[in-house]
Amino acid sequence: MHYSNVPDTRVRVLRDETPRPDGDFVLYWMTAARRLSWNFALDRAVEWARELDKPLVIFEPLRAGYRWASERHHQSIIDGMGDKAGRLEGACVTYYPYVEPEPGAATGLLAALAGHAACVIADDSPTFFLPRLLEAGRKAVLCRMEAVDGVGMLPLSVPGRSFSAAYHFRRYLHKELPAHLGPRPSPDPLAAVALRSLEGLPAEVIARWPAARLLEGGSGRSSLDGLASIPIDHTVGAVPWIGGETEARRRLQSFLETDLARYAEDRNHPDLSVVSALSPALHYGHISAHEIFHGLTEQEGWTPARITLPHNGRRKGWWGMSESAEGFIDQLVTWRELGHGYCHAQPDFRSYDTLPEWAVQTLEDHAGDPRPWLYSLEQFEAAATHDEIWNAAQRQLVEQGVIHNYLRMLWGKKILEWSAHPREALDTMVVLNNRYAIDGRDPNSWSGIMWVMGRFDRGWPERAVFGKVRSMSSDSTRRKVRIDRYLGRWGSQPELV
Ligand SMILES: Cc1cc2nc3c(=O)[nH]c(=O)nc-3n(C[C@H](O)[C@H](O)[C@H](O)COP(=O)(O)OP(=O)(O)OC[C@H]3O[C@@H](n4cnc5c(N)ncnc54)[C@H](O)[C@@H]3O)c2cc1C
Repeated sequence: MHYSNVPDTRVRVLRDETPRPDGDFVLYWMTAARRLSWNFALDRAVEWARELDKPLVIFEPLRAGYRWASERHHQSIIDGMGDKAGRLEGACVTYYPYVEPEPGAATGLLAALAGHAACVIADDSPTFFLPRLLEAGRKAVLCRMEAVDGVGMLPLSVPGRSFSAAYHFRRYLHKELPAHLGPRPSPDPLAAVALRSLEGLPAEVIARWPAARLLEGGSGRSSLDGLASIPIDHTVGAVPWIGGETEARRRLQSFLETDLARYAEDRNHPDLSVVSALSPALHYGHISAHEIFHGLTEQEGWTPARITLPHNGRRKGWWGMSESAEGFIDQLVTWRELGHGYCHAQPDFRSYDTLPEWAVQTLEDHAGDPRPWLYSLEQFEAAATHDEIWNAAQRQLVEQGVIHNYLRMLWGKKILEWSAHPREALDTMVVLNNRYAIDGRDPNSWSGIMWVMGRFDRGWPERAVFGKVRSMSSDSTRRKVRIDRYLGRWGSQPELV
């Protein structure tokens, strides 16, 4: 019987076989939790390698043929690969980063590698092409295979359903989460272990699928030999944000030390920039929610004994932390895991028809309302609307791959208001968000976009176009939030079309 420190609630056995005694190594197929610390899947792989007394291979592939594949997303993942390669120098594991030179080139690679493995550990992740990839992997792998969930603080398998609003989920978390705060992934799973080393990866595998040639790119960046010739969208270029665990941890420290204290009061002001900016690192799996939560609780000197009853879904006061820390956890845990859980429980989460009934009804009732302005995808993409704040947000998205959270809500609400039909608005948001945002193509992408259309929200007083769905206006944004410096940077450029 396998003894494990990784909770059973986080492990899905995809192939229930005894590990192959003649396998050459344990294989960790790293596709979502792209990090070497605070990673339950890596913990599990290390446990198996120790128990079987086998070497460990960490295989991190990057495909070319998925929707919205661009230099921007590739660069972020390549930064992370370079970071890992550096951190693993001299370590007791074999790291095999692989970047597809063209779509489909990796076909057969997992099967070939797994053919030499005793067992395979994979990442469980609820969105984008990852569930399909995992299912294809399950068919290709013929030995024991497990998928491990390292997504959030609450294991995805625990609720067994989705929630219609943050309030309901918060109430649920108040009851259930404390029991799951104990088991944590290891901060440094490779530090204290001595694993058997591998002579080399199988020759026929490495000959056909050579490891990525990663080069030092300066200032924490990595570059990939041959990136320019991979047929991905090179018009969506790299952004200043640097991927990888080292940079993510640096960002976390700086947030905790300088910004967290002002989070409750100032998080909505684009000019003050006190948010964590960790969503891309979370998206690429370069940092885990556990590590962030741990940093926060250390800083607060917090222990679970400070949790206060009753479990009534209150946003403030339940954790027994500072107001800013509680506000931040509400985003990191309640909102983030509300959306991840939704995608896990509702595989058709992308569909307009999965919006709450009241939202579809009211949006359809108002679908024929005259729009004050009407724009096409191309006009939105070119930041060519009449609205200075909207254009500024879109320019920041295209150039830097991010939009401040408050403006992101406005950005979505205005696309809903200025599109011919809510379904068209949904398509426009999905395309622009996922093409340009470095945290795009994430369960949170669908949380945010669908929230614009009414998911996780309640009805508001009825008005044109929006119906009972919550509306937002640029004028009140200008009044409510500090935005002058932001507009100075992004708002004054000439329109592009
Ligand atoms: C139209 C629209 C599209 C969005 N698309 C994305 C997306 O593609 N990827 C993405 O990660 N987020 C998306 N969001 C949610 C939110 O805007 C970002 O998570 C947040 O702005 C990230 O900035 P931060 O890391 O500084 O957040 P912080 O305020 O520092 O919060 C910490 C973490 O909590 C989580 N979080 C914060 N706000 C939300 C939220 N509203 N819903 C779910 N989780 C949240 C994120 O993981 C974030 O990194 C979208 C929101 C809207 C309205």
